[in-house]
Amino acid sequence: MKSIQLRYPQGKFKALTMSYDDGRNADKRLVDIFNRNGIKGTFHINSGLTGTLDRLEEGELGRTYEGHEASAHTLTHPTIARIPKELLVHEVMEDRKNLERIFGYTIRGMSYPGRLL
Ligand SMILES: [Zn+2]
Repeated sequence: MKSIQLRYPQGKFKALTMSYDDGRNADKRLVDIFNRNGIKGTFHINSGLTGTLDRLEEGELGRTYEGHEASAHTLTHPTIARIPKELLVHEVMEDRKNLERIFGYTIRGMSYPGRLL
């Protein structure tokens, strides 16, 4: 019987994944640490909140996360369990469209914002 063995790139058996939400200013320092140590991360961003509180400005996103993956996190970080479905579709799709415009590639991932209930 033939078997298929799945591997990560370069035949590696294990992978480390890092995942962070909200696009905070502290991500600049975090990404610098990742870059110096060959670590890749996925950063879930609310494109409708850039530049508010301690979040990165839209113009900083591309260079801050270069070489890492950008992912959706809804437009304005609502508590999903408390919003109408129509608004949920808007929050997800507009965030994805904005991020694809900003980063220039297809956004494939999403992190669920807020609490589950
Ligand atoms: Zn969040």
